[in-house]
Amino acid sequence: MDADIIVIGASPAGLMAARNACEKGADVLLLEKKEEIGHPPHPANSFFKGMLDRCGEKADPSYVVHNLKGMRIISPSKREIVVETPGYSIDKTKFDRFYAEKVTKTGVNLRTGIETFNILKDGGEFAVSSSDGVFRSKLVIISDGINSKMASLLGLKTMKHPEDIAWGIEMEVRAPGLGEQDMFEYYVGNHAPGWKTTYAPRGGDNAAIGAYVRRCGKDAKPYLNAWVERFKKLKGIEELEVVRKLAGGDPIVTIPNEYISDGVMVVGGAAGQSGIGYAMRAGQICGDVAADAVKKGDVSKHALSEYRKTWEKEFKTEHYIGRIGLETLRKMTDREIDDMAKVFEKEDLSFIHGSAFDQATQVFFFMLKKNPTAMLKYRALLRNK
Ligand SMILES: Cc1cc2nc3c(=O)[nH]c(=O)nc-3n(C[C@H](O)[C@H](O)[C@H](O)COP(=O)(O)OP(=O)(O)OC[C@H]3O[C@@H](n4cnc5c(N)ncnc54)[C@H](O)[C@@H]3O)c2cc1C
Repeated sequence: MDADIIVIGASPAGLMAARNACEKGADVLLLEKKEEIGHPPHPANSFFKGMLDRCGEKADPSYVVHNLKGMRIISPSKREIVVETPGYSIDKTKFDRFYAEKVTKTGVNLRTGIETFNILKDGGEFAVSSSDGVFRSKLVIISDGINSKMASLLGLKTMKHPEDIAWGIEMEVRAPGLGEQDMFEYYVGNHAPGWKTTYAPRGGDNAAIGAYVRRCGKDAKPYLNAWVERFKKLKGIEELEVVRKLAGGDPIVTIPNEYISDGVMVVGGAAGQSGIGYAMRAGQICGDVAADAVKKGDVSKHALSEYRKTWEKEFKTEHYIGRIGLETLRKMTDREIDDMAKVFEKEDLSFIHGSAFDQATQVFFFMLKKNPTAMLKYRALLRNK
């Protein structure tokens, strides 16, 4: 036996799962196919403090490139909803390295440059075949990202709506003073079907602009190209220097489905859990449950279902509300989005707080009070589109 637990993929979820399991006394081997942690980098470039708080983590200056005061959500006719909530633009390579270092200090055996190919059950243990031979363990955690091969090899359908993965591109750009603003901007409307285009200031002359679409194929390039032209006009920029472009899939509204079987747990993007903070918290839950199961000598699906129970308690409602929200948005006309934005424009929204359900209820009553007919716009969800 090479370890109690093998974790496949040093994703934010995998790193947390490995750390938590190790801190609870399990012997953990973390296998990452990249030769160097964080390189090539993942396109993610920002997150908000609230989510990091839920993981019990603090942002570290080693990877924060710019502090954000909040976000502006901007409708097709430029109506703005302002949400004040602190956040961070990050250097994702440095972020990954920060956590990889932290995780190895807890005692996790992190090995880079090792790609896993298959997972086979061999008696009461697992044999993980890889570019460096076969490794054996009592339990396997799969955190190999959105294009997870390992989970599908085991026949797990980890997402309820895989057709709804958002395909996006982030482009790092430079122009004088472009990164100095302190609000993240989301632009919603049919110029980016199914989700958004974005502007993330990164300090000084640096920013990232992105386009994310759903149900329009995997190539978001045409939407990004159109966004670049519109963005330049909006910000009064003649020339944008392009530093790099990074693309990928985000399972934002896919809803986790089958992510546990006997001796196997799936976590992070591979399990339809989107976002760095969400993936980290799911990783923590997964790692804790995995270590307990190994300690008790029971890694059955039933014993591991504690992971599902805890995850659902913390996140299920939020994920369903998020899915309803983005599906409604995908089906709305630009005019309807504008009408909806009008309800919240220039309002102090700091009263919205608490659980996802509480927040949805507060928004519901706010709309009912301010403009009840705006509620009818939600009928868009029923459209066959
Ligand atoms: C364009 C884009 C932008 C995004 N921006 C943000 C953002 O700004 N903020 C945010 O919170 N979220 C963002 N997200 C979502 C977020 O990045 C992911 O949900 C989050 O990083 C979780 O990553 P993951 O679990 O998908 O795994 P990944 O980060 O993709 O990690 C998977 C790891 O597994 C490794 N691996 C894969 N296969 C194997 C194998 N066979 N053997 C060994 N190792 C393997 C990979 O090399 C990789 O290191 C973005 C997503 C996309 C696509």
